[in-house]
Amino acid sequence: MFGDIEKINKHYGVGNGGWLKLEVGDNQIRIVSEFVDYGNHFLENAKTSVICTGADTCPICLEAIKNGKYQDNKPSVQFLGYVIDRKDAGMKLFRMGWGIFKDINDLSMKADSAFEGTPPYDIVINRVGTGKNDTRYKVRCARTNTPLTEDEMSAIADLKPIEDVIEEMKEKQGGETDKEDYESDPNAELSARDSDGIDK
Ligand SMILES: [Zn+2]
Repeated sequence: MFGDIEKINKHYGVGNGGWLKLEVGDNQIRIVSEFVDYGNHFLENAKTSVICTGADTCPICLEAIKNGKYQDNKPSVQFLGYVIDRKDAGMKLFRMGWGIFKDINDLSMKADSAFEGTPPYDIVINRVGTGKNDTRYKVRCARTNTPLTEDEMSAIADLKPIEDVIEEMKEKQGGETDKEDYESDPNAELSARDSDGIDK
């Protein structure tokens, strides 16, 4: 089993930084971890998401506070966790917004789909549209419960805790303006940040 780690890695894409992308139509997934909330800024111009490191260190928050525009630039909540993408059996990181999170939470509370922790069935997320204003998601559960396979369970046991993934995302974010130092001496970069909470 242990000798197969390379193979498992390849099979599940663990550590390959695989992210689930929701395609138009049905996306069948299996939730295999808790989902942890974090703050996110979506940069309209760059069409990119930036993780918020907190109002006292996040450059976007700090800039907004300075300009008195924090209310318009507040981070929105996102949730990060692991799923198995049934399309290719890959273990992937999945970032969901409030709408999908709430729909899955609703499933957990309805009598006929109730669960605690992670659901014992697959979830299908149907996507309509691709634009900012026409994208809609509908969440439903697969009709039957299916057990996870042994391979899947051992891959899940090897996953890096989501809190650690989020911490690393924040580290990366903070390190962006200081890339050279970060790559050559991560400790120096970290202590520089610890001392005043702001990247040099
Ligand atoms: Zn922020």
